[in-house]
Amino acid sequence: MVELKISESRDLTRIERIGAHSHIRGLGLDSALEPRAVSEGMVGQTAARKAAGVIVQMVKEAKIAGRAVLLAGQPGTGKTAIAMGMAKSIGLETPFAMLAGSELFSLEMSKTEALMQAFRKAIGVRIKEETEVIEGEVVEIQIDRPAAVTGAASKTGKLTLKTTEMETVYDLGAKMIEALGKDKVQSGDVIAIDKASGKITKLGRSFSRSRDYDAMGPQTKFVQCPDGELQKRKEVVHCVTLHEIDVINSRTQGFLALFTGDTGEIRAEVREQIDTKVAEWREEGKAEIVPGVLFIDEVHMLDIECFSFLNRALENDMAPILVVATNRGITTIRGTNYKSPHGIPIDFLDRLLIISTQPYTEDDIRKILDIRCQEQDVDVSEDAKVLLTKIGVDTSLRYAINLITSAALACQKRKGKVVEMEDVSRVYELFWDVKRSTQYLIEYQNQYMF
Ligand code: ATP
Repeated sequence: MVELKISESRDLTRIERIGAHSHIRGLGLDSALEPRAVSEGMVGQTAARKAAGVIVQMVKEAKIAGRAVLLAGQPGTGKTAIAMGMAKSIGLETPFAMLAGSELFSLEMSKTEALMQAFRKAIGVRIKEETEVIEGEVVEIQIDRPAAVTGAASKTGKLTLKTTEMETVYDLGAKMIEALGKDKVQSGDVIAIDKASGKITKLGRSFSRSRDYDAMGPQTKFVQCPDGELQKRKEVVHCVTLHEIDVINSRTQGFLALFTGDTGEIRAEVREQIDTKVAEWREEGKAEIVPGVLFIDEVHMLDIECFSFLNRALENDMAPILVVATNRGITTIRGTNYKSPHGIPIDFLDRLLIISTQPYTEDDIRKILDIRCQEQDVDVSEDAKVLLTKIGVDTSLRYAINLITSAALACQKRKGKVVEMEDVSRVYELFWDVKRSTQYLIEYQNQYMF
């Protein structure tokens, strides 16, 4: 690897669908870190949101790196929502990587490699780069003879004058003389032509590296290339994750693997080279590390080796904030015969800042359902909302949220515009919640295999 490739990842666009948490835009706190009742898609869960906000603040002030937070609470109490809210409120560019504990166990990749990739997905690198900007309105004119104007439009920074372009260049020269006066125009002048108004402004002289160019803005400068050609340079900033840099540099198919997820294992030496290069860039002031948030749900699924990996990985100075979540109580630590709170080894537990999430009130459930209806662009009548809320209280918030989409389909089918109680009832009969399903199992357990 001679030169690190980062540019390809610029073309990546992520498509966001309406996901389970797409309504979450932050933690919904005010400047004093007090939770607003309903804000940024967040409702209730005030103590947990406030605690999460304090951690975000510490991250922003760079007071903590490589810390780990445990969100502990019953299913559907917003642990994932809070982890997402944390990532969003740290900053738009903050990388957020998420995986479920069970995803680590695959035949294609060792679990520590999968964890390493997840860590590196949550570490951003902000790279400053000087790039040639092709804009076309900066034109270099060289005037040799008063009557004939020769020169070149340095669109690409190369002097690519063709005879057929002579007239254009001549016109530009003529316009320049007309605008600025004959005695103000010299060979090597650089002008800017405003595309909209056609207004001509003299920027300075290309070969004298005039400071006038600075007037274009602090990030824009002109440099003279060795062969006297003109280029306009601009400082651009890219944000990529270490994982993206790893993938682009490790496989022949390059950045496409980022879409398919088929990245395979990445060799340790590739990562070492990348880390060395990034360290160099940091020293030269060309790059900054943006520690993100790595969220591992179902953390009780991790085994003792994964926990030992996490303990070590958190010591790294580039480590992201690790947020883990579980809905388990005291359970066995995978890979051992020991039980511990949440199935997490005591030494790792000791590292964690624990945030507990509480069950929702009826009012919270109603508000979250309201937000989800808006997010999914589904009109729901007041009666139907009351019913959905009741279902949410009796079964679970998640089940009620799932009913919104299916009720909207039922409504569409009967060519209705607004979801009514009948639609909600219909899908409630069609899809069972955990309680009814369990009840059924208990009643008919003799007919099932053991
Ligand atoms: P599990 O333990 O089963 O993984 P969880 O605690 O991670 O559950 P979430 O998935 O975050 O629960 O919550 C279920 C749904 O409710 C999601 O769509 C989530 O975005 C939404 N939700 C949960 N809490 C809130 C909240 N406080 N404000 C707004 N939406 C919420």
